[in-house]
Amino acid sequence: MAPSPLRNVIIIGSGPAGLTAALYSARANLAPLIIEGYEAGGQLMLTTLVENFPGHRDGIMGPALMAEMRAQAEKFGAEMIQGDVVSVDLCAQPIVVKTSEAEYRTKTLIIATGASARLLGLPSERTLMGHGVSTCATCDGYFFRGHDIAVVGGGDSAMEEAVFLTRFANKVTVVHRRDTLRASKIMQDKARANPKIEWMLDSEVQDIRDTGRGDVSSMVVRHNKTGVVTEIPVSGVFVAIGHTPNTKLFRGQIELDANGYIVTRDGPKTSVPGVFACGDVQDHMYRQAITAAGSGCMAAIDAEHYIDNIPEHLQTTLNITA
Ligand code: NAP
Repeated sequence: MAPSPLRNVIIIGSGPAGLTAALYSARANLAPLIIEGYEAGGQLMLTTLVENFPGHRDGIMGPALMAEMRAQAEKFGAEMIQGDVVSVDLCAQPIVVKTSEAEYRTKTLIIATGASARLLGLPSERTLMGHGVSTCATCDGYFFRGHDIAVVGGGDSAMEEAVFLTRFANKVTVVHRRDTLRASKIMQDKARANPKIEWMLDSEVQDIRDTGRGDVSSMVVRHNKTGVVTEIPVSGVFVAIGHTPNTKLFRGQIELDANGYIVTRDGPKTSVPGVFACGDVQDHMYRQAITAAGSGCMAAIDAEHYIDNIPEHLQTTLNITA
């Protein structure tokens, strides 16, 4: 079988990071191929109004923002294919990327596979996502001015989100499944000192209501030791039980940190030459659409520089098989 044509850039992932990398590399005449993944558009597809993406004074719905970004990249010649990558060979020259349908070869690879917010797994949580249920306090806190809301989780993220949300909310109830928090002492102390935060420890959210009405009116919480079930009126539930970076494909081939995020240095550069990472797959700190988009831009520019300066010993390999 004849090898597939050699690509300049393949981008895996189609959230703000991947689509910005696509836009920049398309405009640099690199004819990028974007493998969108089955969850095309990334986490913004799960949100409603986005008010913090610059340039949209009245806000824009998450899916509409992603559709615009996709169309803009396509306008400049980015090629999109749906489906998931099943394997990669980052040590090969050229780099090999396989989907269930085809095998691709590329000079550079931009990884923008994101991180998925862990969810409780309740059917009502999915239904009400973006309608009172959120996984991002920075994005959605503003919508809950003067309301009673809840944060689920006992880690640093939950503490940080709870404290942040007290800027807007009347009261924030932290629901955590154990009687001790996982969060660092300094973050716990900050949360415990905040008079707007109330605690429901040893407790798990069993249900979020009201799917019939289409927004959040209350949560049903069960105390793990007593078995007592209580319905607490809230108008928002922030699920802050951690994120899982989507790096399973790359494990063993690229440097990951202890939590599985891709380690980047000097911008989007990874431990493998020619492989760049952008967006939430390498960022557990900021996790914003705008920071993801910014890092996607950096990855595209660095990929372009890499292609312009491919080391001599690799040029021969790449030209022979091109
Ligand atoms: P995390 O440390 O893994 O904490 C997740 C929390 O969610 C834990 O309390 C866990 O409970 C709970 N949880 C997990 N699955 C659950 C489920 N199915 N139902 C109910 N509760 C569940 O995640 P994180 O808070 O996002 O932090 C991730 C990393 O980023 C950590 O290393 C953290 O230190 C760091 N971080 C640092 C800062 C900061 O320094 N400013 C801010 C945010 C995050 P258990 O405790 O019972 O397991």
